[in-house]
Amino acid sequence: MSNGAVSSSIDFDAKQKALGLPRLTSRVFLDLGIWMASFGLVIGLVFPYSLIVLGAKETFALRPKVFVFTIAAGVIVGIVNFLLARGVVGKKLRSLSSSMRYVANALQIATANGDQSLCSPETCKLSEDSADEIGDAARSFNLLLHTLANSHYVEFATNTVTNSLAEHLVFEELARSCLTNYIEFSNASAGMLLVVRDGKLEFGSTKGLQLDLQQVSKTLEPALASREIKSIDIPEDLFIDAIVTTFRPREVIAVPTWLGGTPLGIIVLAFAKPVPTETKSLLAGFQSPTAVALNNALTHERFQLLAAVDPLTDAYNRRFGIARLNEEVSRSIRTGSPLGFVSFDIDHFKKVNDTYGHLAGDQVLCAVTKVARSMLRDGDILIRTGGEEFLILLPGAGDADVHSVAERIRRTVELTIVNVGDAEIRVTVSLGGLSCFGIEGRRSEDILNDVDICMYDSKRSGRNKVTMAQPLGLVQKADPEFFEDTARATH
Ligand code: GH3
Ligand code: MG
Ligand code: MG
Repeated sequence: MSNGAVSSSIDFDAKQKALGLPRLTSRVFLDLGIWMASFGLVIGLVFPYSLIVLGAKETFALRPKVFVFTIAAGVIVGIVNFLLARGVVGKKLRSLSSSMRYVANALQIATANGDQSLCSPETCKLSEDSADEIGDAARSFNLLLHTLANSHYVEFATNTVTNSLAEHLVFEELARSCLTNYIEFSNASAGMLLVVRDGKLEFGSTKGLQLDLQQVSKTLEPALASREIKSIDIPEDLFIDAIVTTFRPREVIAVPTWLGGTPLGIIVLAFAKPVPTETKSLLAGFQSPTAVALNNALTHERFQLLAAVDPLTDAYNRRFGIARLNEEVSRSIRTGSPLGFVSFDIDHFKKVNDTYGHLAGDQVLCAVTKVARSMLRDGDILIRTGGEEFLILLPGAGDADVHSVAERIRRTVELTIVNVGDAEIRVTVSLGGLSCFGIEGRRSEDILNDVDICMYDSKRSGRNKVTMAQPLGLVQKADPEFFEDTARATH
């Protein structure tokens, strides 16, 4: 459509050119001067005859002196007109051309070092004070300037967003950075990023916007399916949580993200003012780099999970578990909160395999894992450390919490019946538990070893038991000065 508009305006200009006077020299003003002087000459030639029409005597009007005088007057008027035109029109044209030169230089600088400030429409704007072609030229120039500045801004914004998205592979970080960029460049007041996982919209990141996911899914799913940037109905209870106040947005738009035929997510942006079309076009330019980055992060997440999870029990595998253990140990040191550990092993599991077969053994393993998982809170971590051996990390859990979780697992496993064919299989587990503060200086392997010692104590003393490590004994063993430090820190 815009191409059509451009070509029709060019056709119009060509017609205008065809209607003009023929060109005489390579300079427009020289042409104008020649035309004006010639016109003066013609007027000078014709004027004596018009004197006769007005009643002057022929002998007076056609005297050579009169001809010389009227021709000279005509030519002088022509020359003065030419000088006036140069002074008035030429001045405006010179200002137009020097502005264009300035903008060209500014653009060269902007291309070389990225400094866009020199060619802002404010810096280079021409005065539009003439209601004719000169004014039109100034207006067209200013429009061109505005379009150029806008296209530079779009390029700059798209590059910034693309570069910043390319820096993140971890989904949470990407979602945060993506949302910040979208909000910043669109001048939105708040926003939320939702991601498609297993065909459903899930929360990704938010800034100042709280939406009930179930409630808005009905609106967002069609918006996502449409693939278009759209305004959506503002939920009744939607308020933007600004720093000092909360307010209701004027417009909320949804920006869907697709890669090929796959929907990846949707970014919801809330605005205090109606959203200009330019902003929507800008956001449309972000869609493609966002899709690539989001797809990379989600693929990375899937691979991480595949590499991290034991396929039989869905618990984390040992390798990933140790990495998580180290993270939790660091967090515990940083935050000064306790970290709880429970280690457990199925009793006489070999006998289960030998009696009911390996597949039945697998089912028992899964049932026991399910029981253990049902005792955990968000943030607790279940790791399969070996065949029928597991470790649970309980961030924030003190001795009493660790003992309580371990005891509940023991009791529930003891009461669980696993039905395999006609067989009703019951198993028990032996558990060890400990909780520690200030594990700085201790290797995580040593802690695992300590909690395993407790678990083997349970085995040795008859199985189906929980054995807790001596409270804080581990820390004393690891770092005798710890208690003094902690005492100093807490007083
Ligand atoms: P204890 O009470 O001393 O722990 O005796 P146990 O029989 O449980 O211990 P042992 O270490 O002798 O045997 C563990 C068994 O667990 C041996 C192995 O075949 C079985 N096992 C390990 N991984 C799996 C698995 O993925 N599936 C099944 N079905 N069995 C497994
Ligand atoms: Mg065992
Ligand atoms: Mg074992």
